[in-house]
Amino acid sequence: MATPVLPSPEIELSVVIPVFNEARNLRPLVEALRPVLDRETSGWEVIFVDDGSADDSLAVIRDLNRADARLLAVSFSRNFGKEIAIAAGLDRARGRAVAIMDADLQHPPAVLATFLARWREGYSMVYGVRSDRNGESQLKRSFARAFYKLFERFGETRLPEGAGDFRLMDRKAVDALCLMGERARFSKGLYAWIGFRSVGVEFDVADRLHGATKFNFRKLFSFAFDGISSFSTVPLKIATYMGVLIAIFATGLATFYALRTLLFGTDLPGFPTLVVSIMFFSGIQLISLGLIGEYVGRIFAEVKRRPLYLVGEHVGIAEDQQKKPAAIP
Ligand code: UDP
Ligand code: MG
Repeated sequence: MATPVLPSPEIELSVVIPVFNEARNLRPLVEALRPVLDRETSGWEVIFVDDGSADDSLAVIRDLNRADARLLAVSFSRNFGKEIAIAAGLDRARGRAVAIMDADLQHPPAVLATFLARWREGYSMVYGVRSDRNGESQLKRSFARAFYKLFERFGETRLPEGAGDFRLMDRKAVDALCLMGERARFSKGLYAWIGFRSVGVEFDVADRLHGATKFNFRKLFSFAFDGISSFSTVPLKIATYMGVLIAIFATGLATFYALRTLLFGTDLPGFPTLVVSIMFFSGIQLISLGLIGEYVGRIFAEVKRRPLYLVGEHVGIAEDQQKKPAAIP
């Protein structure tokens, strides 16, 4: 594990912002954020994590840094995904508290004032809870609902519904998160898993300022599966349970046929039943195999112990603030 970045006493709050192709949003974001931070904190830094943007997000950030040295950035060598971008930001945050927010102004900077107030009351973790999901399609909402239900059933960790990445954490919580070296990062689960005294704060999700969301259905689906598979092995047990049930059923059926043949002799019909049942059970076997394969694949990804991310460059981040990506001994 790399040496931890030492918190700096002058910095009360670090704000970590994952950025993927958000060039047009960055200036308005900083305009909205800076007055809030100036007013609400005794000292702050913003750490943008450029997650391999293809537009000129990084150039904009460099400009912003020249004008205000409290606006820092780490830029990845390619797109590693939002979860990993957050990890890189947390690795470099020096504040006594660290907030995470999106770059598209969907997370209103003004809410940070409430976050800070709750933190000063003594909460380790203050998370934003979206007061409604109105901006989202009906389909997306019912998927989200189903996911939370499933996670509750399977996972050993309880997720507060409607809580996302918009949150503030104290040093203890940040250090705990930085210890997690896993590649399939499901932050929502990790936040809940580490525990600490937490409280939710409701906020209204604003509309995205420019551009479109980067999370389509396919991405959300694989994200959801990542979430369940990294916090639960229940799906693996489902195969076992199903196997046991089917075996019991088959034994019963075999006995029934044996008795019937002994009592009444035999006749040949039953061909469709045979085909259907063979196909059905092959299907179940393949699904179970695939499920096991998913877990094996994830184990493979974890045991390779590749670095979590690769840094292309740092903007305004001094040597001693540059943590090497978590390489596990
Ligand atoms: N993001 C990122 N890497 C990605 C996708 C998204 O860093 O691969 C950032 C993005 O720039 C934004 C935040 O994650 O700051 C949330 O993304 P988005 O607004 O697309 O997601 P949504 O609000 O729809 O959940
Ligand atoms: Mg967004």
